[in-house]
Amino acid sequence: MNALHLSADGEPDAEKAFFVADLSIVYKQHERWKKLLPEIEPFYAVKCNPDPYILRLLAALGASFDCASNNEIKQVLDIGVNPARIIFANPCKATSFIRSAARAGVDAMTFDNTDELHKIARTHPGAKLIVRILTDDSKSLCRLGLKFGAPLVTVPALLAKAQELKLDVIGVSFHVGSGCYDPSAFAEAVARARAAFDMGREAGYEFSLLDVGGGFEDATFETTAKVLTDAIDRHFPVRDRIRIIAEPGRYYVSKAFSLAANIIARRAPPAHEQTSATSSPSDAEIAAVAVAAADAAVVEQEQPSVMYYINDGVYGAFNCILFDHQSPQPYVLSLNGSFHVPASIPLRAASVWGPTCDSLDCVCSMVKLPATLEVGDWLGFENMGAYTVCAASQFNGFEVSKVIYTTGAGPGAAEVREALRAYEV
Ligand code: PLP
Repeated sequence: MNALHLSADGEPDAEKAFFVADLSIVYKQHERWKKLLPEIEPFYAVKCNPDPYILRLLAALGASFDCASNNEIKQVLDIGVNPARIIFANPCKATSFIRSAARAGVDAMTFDNTDELHKIARTHPGAKLIVRILTDDSKSLCRLGLKFGAPLVTVPALLAKAQELKLDVIGVSFHVGSGCYDPSAFAEAVARARAAFDMGREAGYEFSLLDVGGGFEDATFETTAKVLTDAIDRHFPVRDRIRIIAEPGRYYVSKAFSLAANIIARRAPPAHEQTSATSSPSDAEIAAVAVAAADAAVVEQEQPSVMYYINDGVYGAFNCILFDHQSPQPYVLSLNGSFHVPASIPLRAASVWGPTCDSLDCVCSMVKLPATLEVGDWLGFENMGAYTVCAASQFNGFEVSKVIYTTGAGPGAAEVREALRAYEV
């Protein structure tokens, strides 16, 4: 039995939650990309996870970068990436940011409105512009069309204005929405991009860049690659003078990070607590409530009979629940101080909460967990690499969980336990 030494007396926060990052996953996703979309150059969307080692690895592998702000541009330039390998893919930028991009030699940038053209004409007249068009984002978890993208009907007027301001528009971009679960959205978007290319020609431009944005999902990548390639073949049969790029984020990093979080507290739900004499129920009391709840409830109505509090929550890594429409599910990393978690074990309905004082901070409202799971045990969460650490706050003074790096078979339970073992020594 692997005894865990969780006491760590005198060491504050010795049981801190942590990410385990497996950079080999990022490498494999890049290889997969090159195999299935050899014609499309990936510009990794830094916003998705700006981890310095991910950026360095992708830079070394020859990928380029999609940046949304000055700081992202600086972070990428600071690791030695040539500014020609950056697209400033934010259609609504502060004037000072455009000026800084000009100074840094970052020329490629998107726009979707006339004011942006005026700002660029004033501060970066040599920019290489890409018109971001609106596409159907209704098949995606995170819809971006509410905020960005010029409807096709507005594109001719935008291009006329760009001509008037003597700006160089070099191509078209779109984003089908992040977490796109219907690959056909890409086909429809490429058709719209074709129409925008034709509008470019009418306006006197010869576009040379097609940017197919982000939205790529690990699970549907093969299908998406096929749909996208077919659509490009269909709508851009002659493309020897067209460079095609994309802005993948989630696809590269989602699977590369897992999170290990420690159970720091446990209690009965308020409804059960009214009948309980103490605010901190004993194991026997919790078990009794669980049995009673199990007896009373038909499966659909089952309510959690125990609440677990872990040391990362929606104000930290699990902000992906609020901002990215995710529903992370825990698995048990350690049980009663041991890494040995029997395959078959009595379970009970539980809810899992973050550490802050806000009741919004709920990680999982209903999950089946081992009946004997207790304070000090560890839970693991997979697929925690995209839109997690980048938007984590320190609300209530809780630190953003640190990252431990590995390379291997992926940050599965075995790798995370290994990291936990090392962490606890
Ligand atoms: N490009 C732009 C302009 C975005 O706004 C985003 C995400 O919001 C991305 C790329 C990355 O999208 P994804 O992570 O879905 O690939």
